[in-house]
Amino acid sequence: MIKVINNVLSLEDCFHLYSALISSNMWNLNRCSEGKNRGAFPGVTLIEKNEVIHNNQYWIGYLNCLFDRINQKLREQHNFLLDRRIFRIALNAQNDNHYTEFHVDTHKLNVFLEKTCGERDIKIIDDIISNVNLNVNKGITFIESDTQKYEADFFIDCTGFKRLLINKLGAKWISYKKYLKVNSAITFQTPDEENYNCWTLAKAMKFGWRFKIPVQGRHGNGYIFSDKYTTPEKAKLEIEKELGYKINIGKHIKFDPGRLDKVWIKNCVAIGLSANFVEPLEATSIGTSIQQSFLLMHNLNDPVGSVREQYNTQVKSIMENIRDFIYLHYLRWNQHNWFWKNYTYENAPLNIKKMIGLWKRRLPIDDDMKTSNYSLFWACNFIQVLNGLGFYDYNNSIKKQYNLIPTKTKNEIENYFKKINNILIYKKHKEIINERKNS
Ligand SMILES: Cc1cc2nc3c(=O)[nH]c(=O)nc-3n(C[C@H](O)[C@H](O)[C@H](O)COP(=O)(O)OP(=O)(O)OC[C@H]3O[C@@H](n4cnc5c(N)ncnc54)[C@H](O)[C@@H]3O)c2cc1C
Repeated sequence: MIKVINNVLSLEDCFHLYSALISSNMWNLNRCSEGKNRGAFPGVTLIEKNEVIHNNQYWIGYLNCLFDRINQKLREQHNFLLDRRIFRIALNAQNDNHYTEFHVDTHKLNVFLEKTCGERDIKIIDDIISNVNLNVNKGITFIESDTQKYEADFFIDCTGFKRLLINKLGAKWISYKKYLKVNSAITFQTPDEENYNCWTLAKAMKFGWRFKIPVQGRHGNGYIFSDKYTTPEKAKLEIEKELGYKINIGKHIKFDPGRLDKVWIKNCVAIGLSANFVEPLEATSIGTSIQQSFLLMHNLNDPVGSVREQYNTQVKSIMENIRDFIYLHYLRWNQHNWFWKNYTYENAPLNIKKMIGLWKRRLPIDDDMKTSNYSLFWACNFIQVLNGLGFYDYNNSIKKQYNLIPTKTKNEIENYFKKINNILIYKKHKEIINERKNS
């Protein structure tokens, strides 16, 4: 292990590996919703026969830490980061899509979705709903605009923060602001650059954090902050000072982190921003909507009261898992102003408070999560964030735990890194994407 870290890969090796992963026919674009995939996202799957590495949480945890350490060195020495897919190849990830990320151009996605709906005979009606009609027992009987009435036996509220339908049925908002302090975002665009990063930049700022996401032709950016500590104008100045040039603010969005007490009431389910929203960190909103949709799919058959109750409990659990995971990111970052001083182990949600002592002695395992199978974050995710926080003492408890890993698994890790040295051609991310676009 130590040998691998010290002889950290050369920059050229990394490009070779990355390029190989993109080009290799071992990779399949796959979409699946079964098995241990827990609902799952579309993702990249490695199919490599005769080499099954067991999904041992400890092993995944160590590999996570190792991966992050290597990345840290690469960043210091070469200003370069390894793609998460490299990590997935090491896990021999078969349909386990935890580490897959996509940066999607939202405008192009809308065009694509409209086209897909058309192909599947899904009718899109562009209208503004002004009234929701209720029946005491049944729930919603119809919704209407100024010109038209729409009847149905089941409704999905996806009206975003307006919560037009579910609010009428008496849903209540449970705020997480006691724990999570950011509640405002400004967004802006910055120009395309010579190369694309293979990651989302999430960088701590004075009163929150900022993101930078490459899409082809531009970068989408945002500063997520607490309006108790700064204003959009001051946030803009802070960014401009950092970037060294002026920016134009696209949107200023305000939100209250939290969730509905019940997302499914009578014949209406709220999905998306209408149901819950923690904050943009880790882009959990779309993931939650996907998981909620899968869950709904399994439960629509006979939606009696107990089914609704179970669904609501599961969604609550998904949201609390996100709240806890996001909270962890803020610990120990930069404690010299009042915004950051809010985040302490003492102020943390109960689940974190309960587990943190144990996690000092051993790495988190999935069983510690006590959450729905549809949740987004598991032991391996928590391990990574805790590692980033400098939480682990490598020379004591973690080393002891590493020593418990079977020799076979340790050898597999070593072999994986040896394999890296034998990989293909030198190319940059943007070059590869452009080539694939033109092929
Ligand atoms: C500050 C912020 C930053 C985010 N950053 C990211 C990010 O970087 N990456 C990411 O993946 N996700 C991000 N998200 C999450 C992303 O925005 C949501 O996941 C996504 O927009 C959810 O879509 P939605 O359909 O639930 O809500 P919305 O996108 O808000 O859509 C609601 C729709 O309902 C319509 N509507 C409302 N009222 C009516 C009415 N009366 N009649 C008819 N239609 C109506 C609206 O016109 C709108 O089209 C962010 C969210 C926020 C708040």
